[in-house]
Amino acid sequence: MPGRLSPLPRMTKPSLLELPPGVQLVYLAEGGANVIYRFVPSSHLAVEDESRQPFSSSSSSSTTKIPHDRDPLIENSAVPLPAIFKGKLLRLRKQTASDLPYKEIVANFNTKIRPLFPANELVDQTLIRLPTDLIPHCNESLRAEERDGSRPAKRHGSYLCLSEPFGLLITDMTVLNDPSAATLAEFKPKWLLQSPSAPASADRCRTCALREMKNRSARGGKEVRSFCPLDLVSERFEDVLRAATFVRRAGGGGSEYDRVRLAKILFRNPTLRNLLSKQKSFREVGLLGPEVLSRENSLDMTLRDCTMFVKIPRDELSPVEIRLGDLDLKTGAGGKAQYWRDLEHQLIDGGWYSTAGSDDSQKHECALSLSRDEFKGNGNGNGNGNGNGVRSG
Ligand SMILES: [Zn+2]
Repeated sequence: MPGRLSPLPRMTKPSLLELPPGVQLVYLAEGGANVIYRFVPSSHLAVEDESRQPFSSSSSSSTTKIPHDRDPLIENSAVPLPAIFKGKLLRLRKQTASDLPYKEIVANFNTKIRPLFPANELVDQTLIRLPTDLIPHCNESLRAEERDGSRPAKRHGSYLCLSEPFGLLITDMTVLNDPSAATLAEFKPKWLLQSPSAPASADRCRTCALREMKNRSARGGKEVRSFCPLDLVSERFEDVLRAATFVRRAGGGGSEYDRVRLAKILFRNPTLRNLLSKQKSFREVGLLGPEVLSRENSLDMTLRDCTMFVKIPRDELSPVEIRLGDLDLKTGAGGKAQYWRDLEHQLIDGGWYSTAGSDDSQKHECALSLSRDEFKGNGNGNGNGNGNGVRSG
C-alpha cells in the first residue's frame, strides 16, 4: 500500500501518531514495567544480522541493558524509517500488577511534568498507536529469547500488556546511533536538598542517610558507595568533582579527564538548578508526604527519583545534551505512601541522619558532615533542613 511507504507516519486523528506496520524493531533493554526497542533503518539491516554490535550505553538502576543487539523483530526491509522516528526509541508496556495505561501516563506527563521543564531538558514521550499484531509478535520474541538465553533470567515470565494499544516514542539518549557522542553519563540526582522532616541536628542528608542505612542492614553484602546529592548542586567546583567521581559512564572506566569534564558540565548546570528549584517548590515528602493510605500521585517524590542523562560529544566545542527521564508520576497506591512514611520514621528513629558512631571513612561522605570541616561555613547553601523539631532517638 502506498500509504505504508510514506515518509511520514499516518495520522489516525490529529496529533496521534501511528507506527507503520513493517518498521524494524530491535530489543534494547527492559526494566520491571517497560521494554525498550530501537528502530533500525532499513539500509542498516544487511550488516545488522551478521555483525551484532556491542551495546555501549551505561546502565541505569531501573533498567537491564543487554550487551548485544538482537535480530530485528519484523523482517521487512522495504519499509524506510520515517524521519519522525530518528533519534527516538519505542517504549512498550509490560503487564504488571499496578500498571497504568500509557494514555494516562502521557496525560500526567503533559499536565504535570512538561510545564516544569523546557522541552530540551526532558526525555520526551509521545503516544503512538501500535499495529494490532505487534505486541503478540514482541511477546513471542521475548519467549524465544528466554529459550536461547539472551533475555536476563530475572525478567523471564513477564511480557508485554496485550490490552495496551499504545507505545511511547521516547528520546533516544543512547550513544549507539550517534557517532558524534563519546559518552553517556546516567545517574539519579536524588534529593538535592535535605528532607523537610530530618532532625534539626542532622549531619547527613536524606539520600546519604538512606544509603548508609541500607549498607548497614546489608552487612556482608555489597556496600553501595555513591555521591552526596548536595555536592552535585554545590557552589564549590571540588564538591561537584567529588560527586562526578561516582557517576557511571558508558563502558565503565573513565579517565581523570572524563571526570573533570563531566564536573565542568554539571557545575552550576541549569537543568540541575531547575530540578533543585522544583524540589524546593514540591516538598511534601518525608513526614510531610502523602498520608499512609493515600492513592494520590506524588510529583514531589517523582522529582526525587528521576534520571539525568548527559550525552557528551567527542568534540569539546559541540553542545552537550542533557535530559531528565524516569518522570512517570509515582503513586502512593499499593502501599507506597505507607512505605515512604515508614522509611522516614526508620531514618529518624534509627539515627541515620547522624554520622555519630560511623567509621571515619563514611563520616565525610555527606556534604552536611561535620568532619568535612573545610567545606563548612562556605556558603554551600544546602542547610540541614528546616528544623521542625523532630529529633532522632
Ligand atoms: Zn549527603
